[in-house]
Amino acid sequence: MTEIEPIALRELTTLRTGAAPHRMLDATTTPELISALREVWQEGGEWFVLGGGSNLFVGDEPFDGTVIRILTTGIEELPSPHEGRIRLRVQAGHSWDDLVAYAVERGYAGIEAMSGIPGTVGAAPVQNVGAYGQEIQETLVEVELIDEHADDAVVVPAAELGLGFRTSVLKHHYGEVQERRAVILSVTLDLAVTGDGGRVVRGDQLRRALGLEDYEPVPLSWVRARILETRAMKGMLLDEADPDTRSAGSFFQNAIVSEAVARTLPAECPRWKVEPDLDAMTVIPLDDYYGLSPRAERPASMVKVSAAWLIENSGIRKGFKLPRSRAGISTKHALAVTNRGGATAAEVSELARFVQSRVHAEYGLLLQPEPVLVGVEL
Ligand SMILES: Cc1cc2nc3c(=O)[nH]c(=O)nc-3n(C[C@H](O)[C@H](O)[C@H](O)COP(=O)(O)OP(=O)(O)OC[C@H]3O[C@@H](n4cnc5c(N)ncnc54)[C@H](O)[C@@H]3O)c2cc1C
Repeated sequence: MTEIEPIALRELTTLRTGAAPHRMLDATTTPELISALREVWQEGGEWFVLGGGSNLFVGDEPFDGTVIRILTTGIEELPSPHEGRIRLRVQAGHSWDDLVAYAVERGYAGIEAMSGIPGTVGAAPVQNVGAYGQEIQETLVEVELIDEHADDAVVVPAAELGLGFRTSVLKHHYGEVQERRAVILSVTLDLAVTGDGGRVVRGDQLRRALGLEDYEPVPLSWVRARILETRAMKGMLLDEADPDTRSAGSFFQNAIVSEAVARTLPAECPRWKVEPDLDAMTVIPLDDYYGLSPRAERPASMVKVSAAWLIENSGIRKGFKLPRSRAGISTKHALAVTNRGGATAAEVSELARFVQSRVHAEYGLLLQPEPVLVGVEL
């Protein structure tokens, strides 16, 4: 672990806001990371870990605590208990896209549709990253993590991480307390060994994104190249030269509403049914059991509605900017709030609040931010 001269967070985050924090530590190995965390926990005070900074919106006031940069790298191949599959154990600071490239080059399938997502492997389960219908939860076996104030790291199966749409128990959602405060040290994925020969692509969303009309087999490397091209066209692939990529990706989450609320929205607003989580088992204490099982309660169905559609149809076009502001909506994607050069967190917040208020006034829904907010309020 090395204590370094704190670097302004606007240089380490893709939305490019935030001053230098009070203190900054670099950890390049897992033992260093653990000892940095232990030291910070012992001292008390605020802290957070930083990966690629691509899902963070940091305020203008210096963070009064310690930022630990996770710079650990490495991929280890392990046997899978399943025939025709392989396991990859990857260190938390490894670049996510380098991992996808590694898997695709070797003909390991399962994460190729997530090519080009910025950031680190350790942060990927935090919001259950996904793109074009593929999510990390489909291939994630377990993570090694250390809980705040715990002595040792533990291995936690994916099923215990509460993975859902852009969420997990580890994510610090805006306005809510994090359910489990822990740092991921490594991630284990289970991938299919398919080689780079042709393979039929499953999933309508992915096939549509790839422009595949029927079920012709295509190589993994072709899928990756096509996804990278598509992302670049939408400003969703980091590119120094493209100001539309100075963002935190999608700034707003698609809204999840009841069927009754969804019916109040115009029919053209794209929507997807969200399958409710059914309780697998109801435990009835023996003393309360009279020979009749209660009827299982079916949770209400929910509907996911397109935040991009709501934004554009509340009058905010791609490229929209408030007068004299250096923050703007991406010219390619209505969901991305971008930094057009030197925008402060205050300017970004002003634009985000304006979008929220327009959508609320038009459709009665309050859009929630997707990135983790540090020292900023919307
Ligand atoms: C252009 C662009 C496109 C994007 N496209 C997508 C997309 O298609 N799909 C998608 O899901 N996301 C997308 N994102 C969002 C982002 O890339 C992902 O959420 C990514 O996983 C964040 O990784 P990071 O290392 O940059 O995390 P950071 O921004 O550094 O951190 C995000 C949060 O995770 C915490 N964290 C980081 N590392 C760890 C760790 N090891 N253990 C515990 N907590 C940790 C941080 O403290 C912080 O709270 C996009 C972002 C951009 C800028």
